[in-house]
Amino acid sequence: MSESVAILGLGTMGSGMAANLLKAGIPLAVYNRTPAKAQALVSTGARFAATPAEAAKSASIIICMLADDTASRAVWTGKDGALSMVRPGTVLIESSTASPAWIAELAGLAAQHGAELLDAPVTGSRVQAASGQLTFLVGGSEAALQAVTPVLKRMSKEIVHLGPTGSGAKMKLINNFLCGVQVASLAEGLAWIERSGLDPRQALSILSAGAPASPLLVAISERMMNHNYAVNFLLKLMAKDMRYAETEAANCDVKLTTAEISLALFQRAIADGYGDQDMASVIEPIRANK
Ligand code: NAP
Repeated sequence: MSESVAILGLGTMGSGMAANLLKAGIPLAVYNRTPAKAQALVSTGARFAATPAEAAKSASIIICMLADDTASRAVWTGKDGALSMVRPGTVLIESSTASPAWIAELAGLAAQHGAELLDAPVTGSRVQAASGQLTFLVGGSEAALQAVTPVLKRMSKEIVHLGPTGSGAKMKLINNFLCGVQVASLAEGLAWIERSGLDPRQALSILSAGAPASPLLVAISERMMNHNYAVNFLLKLMAKDMRYAETEAANCDVKLTTAEISLALFQRAIADGYGDQDMASVIEPIRANK
């Protein structure tokens, strides 16, 4: 494979994705706002880049995996931003869960540099990023997707092409809207179980085998039960996704009442200091009856 890749953003997800590209022997440059997070990857063969522009300068594929629109805008277009080094023919891949509005703007900026943008957010979490088992939800041209498929395959078990630019971002927000609502209602349900006099283990085994069961319910209920908030998915990022989902659905004339209520629970947990813990910690203010 002759592609040279840059990954911008080495958080929970980006670091696992980068490690899989290195394992595959793909020449890789890495950038992270906090440079220390690049160390492990540099010691296994990645080229350290002090700025997004430096990471982008020799890359034919640039992948961004950042917190939100603000982070993405800063890294693509800010001082020493990646776009300043993009050459015609480069494929830009925005894998952050971003708003479709920002994706549309970024696609326009990419075109000014003769480059194409794919929005390719992912499903799967820390474990799937580390094991190369993500699913990419892709919007953009078939030709650009074909060009980057060998690289995406190294990080994923599935690549789904959903349509034109923005389709991946839209699908991802619908996905996370349903996840966020479920996590919020699970938090209330489990707090209720704990106060009800029922045996929580028995109650959860019934829910996990019954109609409400989902992979999310099974995984998150375990973390809530064990008060295990080691980060798989930051609570503050789920709040961000619910906000983006509300705006995007409103653009389609759909009011997400359940997102609004769930977002209030995530915001209460952020106010109580749980924003930088796993989203399962949304249960804590409910347990505390706040
Ligand atoms: P994370 O661990 O919090 O990493 C966030 C990354 O964004 C870090 O590299 C951080 O840099 C960078 N960043 C934040 N604000 C910035 C700014 N203003 N300027 C420059 N860089 C900035 O998040 P993650 O879990 O890897 O998630 C990354 C994206 O994937 C998010 O959009 C998230 O919603 C999505 N996602 C996450 C999961 C999951 O389970 N974790 C699953 C699917 C999708 P620093 O290291 O310097 O803070």
